[in-house]
Amino acid sequence: MTTLRLIFLQALVILLFSNCSAQKVPVFSGENAYKYLQKQCDFGPRNPGSEGYRQCRDYLIRTMRLFADDVSTQPFLLSFPNPTTSVSATNIIAKFQPKKTDRILLCAHWDTRPWADQDPDPENHNTPILGANDGASGVAVLLEIATLLHVQKPEIGVDIVLFDGEDEGTEGDERSWAKGSAVFAQQLGSQFHPRFGILLDMIGDSDLTIYKEAFSNQYAPDVVNLVWNRAANLGVTEFIPQVGYGVFDDHIPLLEAGIPCIDLIDFNYPYWHTLMDTPDKCSPESLEKVGRVLTSLIYEPD
Ligand SMILES: [Zn+2]
Repeated sequence: MTTLRLIFLQALVILLFSNCSAQKVPVFSGENAYKYLQKQCDFGPRNPGSEGYRQCRDYLIRTMRLFADDVSTQPFLLSFPNPTTSVSATNIIAKFQPKKTDRILLCAHWDTRPWADQDPDPENHNTPILGANDGASGVAVLLEIATLLHVQKPEIGVDIVLFDGEDEGTEGDERSWAKGSAVFAQQLGSQFHPRFGILLDMIGDSDLTIYKEAFSNQYAPDVVNLVWNRAANLGVTEFIPQVGYGVFDDHIPLLEAGIPCIDLIDFNYPYWHTLMDTPDKCSPESLEKVGRVLTSLIYEPD
């Protein structure tokens, strides 16, 4: 009887323990993330210098301060040719458990393109886009992750960086894009060596397909494999295990600075740089899928 009771107790402990470990990764809410996407779009276009931009910048700093242990800004000047002008721009850096040396970096751009130059109507080519997918989607997932990091601390430290100055580039001039991450990369401290970085860009399309991005696959193949294997284990089939495109995005300056950072991007988005990049083209389900993969990697990185 005593032995049986002991076996029963042991079984109970094992059951409880296994339940605890199954609960270790908090649930990422696509619905909450979608609200963050909508909220950013409610400010209107967030191209540098605009009123929507200023309001959104203050909102992002305010919101990150609710959740992160340390929030700082990294101001820089963003220059435009023809006519030559410059506006002030701001990267937003949120640190979680800053004392931990074992860290990962998550990032997205928060600015939106000032010109809908891919719009089918040429009349719209100088009108700023709303950037629901191209801008708001990546930030939305990172804001929801910030809320989870606040409630349940993972073993590793996390840095969330919202880059400015990504989307003001000109076709054929690579270095006119990704200005915020270039500034961030230039100012990296010698102590900053995250395990890896993941950049989110255009991951909210309701018709989501994320192929491997060519530069990520070439320069940080281990991180690409880690992420795609995790997605496969979680049954997130929207991560397609093939290279689909190469994009000069915010991960390039980071790769050049020695940080193994990959770009999660769904570049098969018909509304890219058009006035039709609006919240109705995005879905909570898509944000949830990307968020679930990231959350799993944060809380179970090995
Ligand atoms: Zn863009």
